[in-house]
Amino acid sequence: MDSPSTVRNINKKREDFLEWPEYFMATAFLAAKRSKDPCSQVGACIVNENNIIVGIGYNGMPKGCADDEFPWGKESKNNLENKYLYVCHAELNAILNKNSVDVRNCTIYVGLFPCNECAKVLIQSGIKEVIYMSDKHATKLSTLASKRLLDASGVKYRQFIPKNRKIVIDFDEINWNDQSQVPSSPMVNHLSGQVEEMNLNPQ
Ligand code: ZN
Repeated sequence: MDSPSTVRNINKKREDFLEWPEYFMATAFLAAKRSKDPCSQVGACIVNENNIIVGIGYNGMPKGCADDEFPWGKESKNNLENKYLYVCHAELNAILNKNSVDVRNCTIYVGLFPCNECAKVLIQSGIKEVIYMSDKHATKLSTLASKRLLDASGVKYRQFIPKNRKIVIDFDEINWNDQSQVPSSPMVNHLSGQVEEMNLNPQ
């Protein structure tokens, strides 16, 4: 039973809906959960000027390069046995996975500040803004070079400040046994075949 303070006014728009920036960063973080990397799970979500997601990616081995055969470590003295030479970063995968003609003038939401190699790809693909969560490698050469490249190319970047520290996905949230959450059934006139009443937007 809801307490009075949590009772919704079903005639008014929800006020606690997920705003666009949170939605896009959360999408990047959800994609990151696909990563097999034991140390660093990064996701990226590319959004066009109409707030439509046009690409999602996470860090992983290239197609055909089996996750169980290629190295995931980073401490071998033999660089050929470290992950770095093999893994595709989230930004690269998000661009290559795009479902649009191109990603010009798009914004990329990404968990970690892009490295210099990804910065080159972002610049060349026409992405205009980078919104990142963490800049934990700020002092690394790859990050310093990345910022130099992005600055010179006029690609903006800024850190994401989330309104909510946590967004929980609860598969039980929509309880289909609770009739109050089920959209009203269409009333079909069986003689005419016309739908007389239908909630076209049940969400
Ligand atoms: Zn990168």
